[in-house]
Amino acid sequence: MSAIDLKAHIRSIKDFPKPGIMFRDITPLLAAPAAFRESIRLLADRYRDAGVTAVAAAEARGFIFAAPLAIELDAAFIPVRKPGKLPFDRRAFQYDLEYGSDSLEMHVDAVKTGDRVLLVDDLLATGGTMQACAKLAELAGAHVVGCAFIVELTFLPGRKKLEGYDVFSLMQYH
Ligand code: 5GP
Repeated sequence: MSAIDLKAHIRSIKDFPKPGIMFRDITPLLAAPAAFRESIRLLADRYRDAGVTAVAAAEARGFIFAAPLAIELDAAFIPVRKPGKLPFDRRAFQYDLEYGSDSLEMHVDAVKTGDRVLLVDDLLATGGTMQACAKLAELAGAHVVGCAFIVELTFLPGRKKLEGYDVFSLMQYH
């Protein structure tokens, strides 16, 4: 349970990035140290005894939460990036978008067999981003401990797409 009303630190912006979308803006939460710290503490408490060896996240907003969480869990932080950004040998996973497809990459030596990876992102919508992160971790032989989010949009099929994984979010919009 949180002593802080985290949802009070999320700003809702109508018609961003396009008409009909209600964007949930996490930047007020990042600007409030007590709320930001509390969101990391809540996630760390949930996974502290889960044997997490690495915390992985896709750029860019996932990094913001995954990096302090990795330090808190004494685990590695693994950046998952858009194509062409990682300098070393990498593995790619392509996933579908509403129109077209996108791809995410992970360094080939970022995780290995036996690693227990916690995946983090700021928000769960359709689940495509998180599913790509999970596939990249699994292709490297790692076990996905869970998928953790700050915000979950429950009216979208993200959870369904991530069926079989332990999915957790700090707050939900229905
Ligand atoms: P999905 O792959 O689940 O459809 O989309 C989730 C990704 O899109 C996340 O990486 C997240 O950063 C971004 N995203 C989509 N909608 C929103 C939103 O309303 N607010 C924020 N903060 N991120 C969003």
